[in-house]
Amino acid sequence: MNITVQKYGGSSVENKEKLELICNKIINERKNSNVVVVVSAQGKTTNNLISKAENYTSLKSYDIDKRNLDFLLATGEMQSASLLALMLNAKGHKAICLTGFQAGIITSCEYGNAKIIDIVTSNITKYLEDDYIVIVTGFQGVDKLGNITTLGRGGSDLSAVALSAALNAKKCEIFSDIDGIYSADPKIITNAKLLDNISFDEMLEASSAGAKVLHNRSVNLAKKYNIKICAKSTFKNSKGSKVEKRIKEDLDIHFITKKDDVSKICIVGPMMLSNREAISKIFKIASEENIEIYMISFSELAINIIVDTQKSQNFMTKLHENLIEKN
Ligand code: ASP
Ligand code: MG
Repeated sequence: MNITVQKYGGSSVENKEKLELICNKIINERKNSNVVVVVSAQGKTTNNLISKAENYTSLKSYDIDKRNLDFLLATGEMQSASLLALMLNAKGHKAICLTGFQAGIITSCEYGNAKIIDIVTSNITKYLEDDYIVIVTGFQGVDKLGNITTLGRGGSDLSAVALSAALNAKKCEIFSDIDGIYSADPKIITNAKLLDNISFDEMLEASSAGAKVLHNRSVNLAKKYNIKICAKSTFKNSKGSKVEKRIKEDLDIHFITKKDDVSKICIVGPMMLSNREAISKIFKIASEENIEIYMISFSELAINIIVDTQKSQNFMTKLHENLIEKN
């Protein structure tokens, strides 16, 4: 089956006018292939849902029950998927919206950061064979016990790449309000160049280091299954940038990127290089608290760790509890 997977980000599905435009793009693509669309939640919906949960519980998001929070966050993508399907229906097209569960996206049960462990495509292919445009909620799946899980912030890219791999799609297009992949963030560097293509490895490095165009886990998965990603603008008719396997020996510099809103945490004690117990505790806490370590350095007297500023308070509290208070 000739399948195109198109993913539309939060700012692309923000309102009725933008959804109208997306309907046209989908209808156009439908002329040449079967279409599976993956959507993010509209605009700032996910952030607003987190704030709402924090407000209603008077807790910080990291202290809120993770299972029940995922349940709430998954509703964001359900709204945009439903609205898009309804609009396509109203224009006379067969379209059906599916949750992560209905789309067969099976994950681990790490709430808030679940990993895709399998995709059972039979439901999607059944609808495609029946001529439907299939709209899937990004960012969510279901664990083996049937609990709704989310894949981590920005996880809709990952849903799109995973579905492309599982469905053996001919095209995987990631649409956003950015034209494609630039040599630097065009909002900071006005002369940034739009790149025609970039290798998986370089993109992985850049997205882990702060380039916001693609989620780093989605690039990792694309590399694993050799899924060529085309990142392009929803609103302009540009050809975008391709992330793909590149076999080229060159010394060109492709990217310069920076990561904002990070904090450096410094843990000081004697003989840190050989303090295996402390080192293993640090990684255990990071994993339990769902904290991504962007960079770590060791010296004889200190371990320096760079993490999201937003998560740094929680990380410090837990580190202090485990490395100092409990000793
Ligand atoms: N709506 C989710 C988020 O804001 C997932 C995504 O947009 O990719 O993180
Ligand atoms: Mg995104």
